[in-house]
Amino acid sequence: MSLGNLVGPSRAARLLLAALAHGRLAHAHVFAGFSGESLSALALNLAKALNCERPNPDACDSCVACRKIEGGNHPDVLVVQPDGDSLKLDQIRAMQNRAWRRPGEGRYKVFILRDAHLLTPEAANSLLKILEDPPGDLVICLLSPNAQALPATVLSRCQVLQLDPVSQATPADLVDFSETLLSRDAGRDELDALRWAEGWEKRRQEFPGLLDALQSCLRDVLLWRTTGASELLLNTGQEAFVASAAPRWSQAELLAGLEAVERARRALAHNANFRLAAEVLFLSLL
Ligand SMILES: [Zn+2]
Repeated sequence: MSLGNLVGPSRAARLLLAALAHGRLAHAHVFAGFSGESLSALALNLAKALNCERPNPDACDSCVACRKIEGGNHPDVLVVQPDGDSLKLDQIRAMQNRAWRRPGEGRYKVFILRDAHLLTPEAANSLLKILEDPPGDLVICLLSPNAQALPATVLSRCQVLQLDPVSQATPADLVDFSETLLSRDAGRDELDALRWAEGWEKRRQEFPGLLDALQSCLRDVLLWRTTGASELLLNTGQEAFVASAAPRWSQAELLAGLEAVERARRALAHNANFRLAAEVLFLSLL
């Protein structure tokens, strides 16, 4: 895989390729969007393009550097993920130490921080020191479902790429069902989840659309919880629903919900049993 043939974040990938071609790539990026898989793919493929032995300006996807990055064992590409429930100061300090060393094999060091909204305030301050004066051979990618959830001081030093928002034209009944799911009405139990999965088995063709709708509703509730800003909602006109659902979910539960949607999408892409994938998803959203 390379930037040029990424399917999900294609618009973002095109923008990065254009920046690479013109030698105007920023040193620090925020890739924001709800598909963790798309965010990681974008960051790793940017790392490939930066360190490929035959860049054009995209990666060749077959040289030793490209293959090492794909396999997660290139010494200049560092992926940092939350330790427990946050990205901690010692993790950023370790990163800081590496920031000033020369790349070991490639041309650039690429640091990828997953779930960057989970930076502790101390870790964010430490990260700022790198962002304020980044070495020329360092590119940082912060991945987060929601750019607005990052500290403003960090955000202001990064180029923000919002991945293509999920379909704005989601059929109303899919949004309605998503809202029913997320309303967390009292008295629901596992039997309801199994019943829903059974019902959706007859509507499998529409299920990918439901996953999009669920993702956009979960994102809206998360955004509302974090910012209270209705103008950023993807599903316009649903402010009343979002405001009523938001208090019933914690941020961690919303993120877990987004992950469950992503897992269902992956399972179905790999031809997993439909009924089982739907059951697991609905059970995890009870
Ligand atoms: Zn290559």
